[in-house]
Amino acid sequence: MSAVHRALKKHFGFDKFRSQQQEDAVKAVLKGDRDVFVLMPTGAGKSLCYQLPALLASGITLVISPLIALIQDQVEHLKALNVPARSINSKLPSAERRQILADLESESPRLKLLYITPEMVASPSFQPCLSSLCARGLLAYLAVDEAHCVSQWGHDFRPDYLKLGYLRSRLQGVPCVALTATAPKRVQEDIERSLKLRSPLVFAIPVFRKNLKYDVIFRDLLPDPYVHLLAFAKEALGGNTAEKGCGIVYCRTRESCEEVAHKLTKLGIPAKPYHAGLKVGDRNESQTDWMAGKVPVIVATISFGMGVDKANVRFVVHWNLAKSLASYYQESGRAGRDGLPSSCRIYYSPKDRDQLNFLIRKEIARKQEKRGSEKEQDKSPILDFEAMVAFCEQEGCRHATISQFFGNQKPNCAGACDFCRDPRLVRAQLARAAALSTR
Ligand code: ADP
Ligand code: MG
Repeated sequence: MSAVHRALKKHFGFDKFRSQQQEDAVKAVLKGDRDVFVLMPTGAGKSLCYQLPALLASGITLVISPLIALIQDQVEHLKALNVPARSINSKLPSAERRQILADLESESPRLKLLYITPEMVASPSFQPCLSSLCARGLLAYLAVDEAHCVSQWGHDFRPDYLKLGYLRSRLQGVPCVALTATAPKRVQEDIERSLKLRSPLVFAIPVFRKNLKYDVIFRDLLPDPYVHLLAFAKEALGGNTAEKGCGIVYCRTRESCEEVAHKLTKLGIPAKPYHAGLKVGDRNESQTDWMAGKVPVIVATISFGMGVDKANVRFVVHWNLAKSLASYYQESGRAGRDGLPSSCRIYYSPKDRDQLNFLIRKEIARKQEKRGSEKEQDKSPILDFEAMVAFCEQEGCRHATISQFFGNQKPNCAGACDFCRDPRLVRAQLARAAALSTR
């Protein structure tokens, strides 16, 4: 067993790495000669990519994280593992703060990981400590978690993250590890630029999942969309709905959740609605029944799915369009976690597109009015939405579009999308839709 594996077992109790990418990232960080960029979905184990090297290196790893609540979770978790980790933040009792600072000032500090918000890093009170650590060569790594917060194109933009570029230039020679979940290409580029990553080694879990079959059906061309949905659900569930997996149908409004659930149930597949308009009890019942496999299909608004990790989701349908290609990838990605063949389908409708487009622009206008000015990044939800629309209206491989949006190479789809299976059908559908719209 290698030293890294021994340390993985000793400090974290894990027998092996989660993925080859996690192992490679840990080893690259340990080498310490390059900046490292980690792009992996939520839950993939990104933290370990800097925590394990931090324990094996001499010196202290400074970890930037956007929220005190996130920091406290992480620090508690590490303390429970007996890892010397602390955080300095505005909520810290002053006695504890003094104790941490005293340790950092000592000749050989005990602390291995110091968690801190970007505000705190930039605050004058922390500067003497930072300068002293730096001057004594005690900083092993700078880890920037949730690095997408640096991007004005992202949804969690935090202006304080922009100060990290300056921090970077103060910490000459300290390798930087930036971590974020799978992010659009332009967000990745923002991160590299803002954090001044110098030709970083990138470790990413590929976006392409070959067990997911993508297709788009123009809803307005169907004689009866519910019957069409039923046939799709039946096939995806494998005929016998009683025991063979389950599905999710996403709708934008409460009314359509009710309507679709009602229609599916009436046509023969039990389905329950899930949305914010339901009484808490009913909503929880929908979820637990679905989780337990008592009801095969849940028809939900996008509030459903956060933290839901069910392995045997055989299909994810979008009855209405998602608001961005990134959200669509995330939502549809709840299918097929067990690696078995699963289907992701959008029932596309230009009417629906126009409605959502209107709502998105209205929301932007509302924000601008409140703020009293316009900003370049206000356009970002529109660009995100346009990518979603283009995905539906394109003649081309759906998997390729998704992969390239996230900056990955074009994958080998091998018939895992409607276009690669039969481009003629996709073209014919587009032609019929165009004919319908000009009538
Ligand atoms: P991310 O930041 O990518 O969302 P985390 O770092 O929070 O993910 O890790 C998610 C979970 O995976 C944690 O509970 C963590 O302990 C666990 N984990 C990380 N690495 C491994 C591993 N090699 N083996 C088993 N579990 C792991
Ligand atoms: Mg994380």
